[in-house]
Amino acid sequence: MKKKLSMLVVPLVMGVMAGGCSGESVREPEVYNLNGTAMGTLVTETIYTTGENPASSVLELLTQTEDKYLSWREEDSDIGKANLQAGQGAAAVNSRTMEYLEETLQLSRDSGGAFDPTMGQLTRLWDVEAENPQVPSRKKIKQYLKESGYEKIHLSNGGTPQVELEEGAAIDLGAVGKGIGCDEAAEFLQKDSQVQGAVVAVGGSVFTLGSKPDQSPWKVAVRDPRGGQEELLGILNLEGETYVSTSGDYEKYFIQGERRYHHILDPFTGYPADAGLISATVVGQDGLISDGLSTACFVLGMEKGAELLEKYHAEGIFVDEKKQVYVTDGLMENFELSASGYVVFPLSP
Ligand code: ADP
Ligand code: MG
Repeated sequence: MKKKLSMLVVPLVMGVMAGGCSGESVREPEVYNLNGTAMGTLVTETIYTTGENPASSVLELLTQTEDKYLSWREEDSDIGKANLQAGQGAAAVNSRTMEYLEETLQLSRDSGGAFDPTMGQLTRLWDVEAENPQVPSRKKIKQYLKESGYEKIHLSNGGTPQVELEEGAAIDLGAVGKGIGCDEAAEFLQKDSQVQGAVVAVGGSVFTLGSKPDQSPWKVAVRDPRGGQEELLGILNLEGETYVSTSGDYEKYFIQGERRYHHILDPFTGYPADAGLISATVVGQDGLISDGLSTACFVLGMEKGAELLEKYHAEGIFVDEKKQVYVTDGLMENFELSASGYVVFPLSP
């Protein structure tokens, strides 16, 4: 993913606004910050620990997760192998990859197919990050649409986990990859009993763990979908373990004619999703799920998106084309709007 996603240097959730402080007594944790690149995107870490600095190990873990399991650009990653074998038989994969695919397919079913991880061919056809991107021919879109579909992934878990893909389908975990990275990194940090708190952003997916020494909430910035790269829609104040992901039409897109063509596709049409939202932020208890839900909700739009959030006991912030910001009850007190021109409303199914 590295080359393609290299433009994705500005996370949707712009990261981490944790205050720094270093300890005075022996027991006080030190704070370590790191900015790096992994999974084709910017990674920002702030970690409070009384032990060794784990920040570079987290970065390394993210890179490994991408290379070993998820990347469709690496032919010897699990997903790369499964894609190469499409139409020719099953590929053996790591049990982690199997778990991730099981959760991902459940999300496909729960979203009625709005979340579809088999549109690799369509994503490449659109290639919105190419130097001179073009709207592809209707014929080609139709053909690739026919060949994709989440029911074309077959998982078998007896003995060695195996993945079999029907011909023409190509797995693309771009919509959950960074969330999976958050899950891996959070698990790693949670095993380290000296880590007292952390906030890590992997592009537009962020997780928070534990607390800061002063017990003030973590602050996660949500980007203004119609502002510049540094402009905020507002701030989320969060406590303990949370996973935040945002999907929007402003991150990877091109303009042709008067229209904006972005990277989140509607699996029913093969064209960029157009359900009235310009951004969907989801806060939940799992990285893969929050990331997948943000993409699914973007495709589903306000009402169906809110129903899906409820099903997963997740919270969210949806922004529509009229700059109306809809916030679920459970987040209303945590969200501080800062951008002008937006108005906040309650979001409920
Ligand atoms: P980002 O990766 O920019 O943070 P998302 O998490 O919303 O944003 O994922 C978008 C990526 O997911 C696309 O670049 C593409 O690879 C893939 N994708 C696009 N449309 C869908 C969809 N309907 N369901 C699942 N994956 C999708
Ligand atoms: Mg996503």
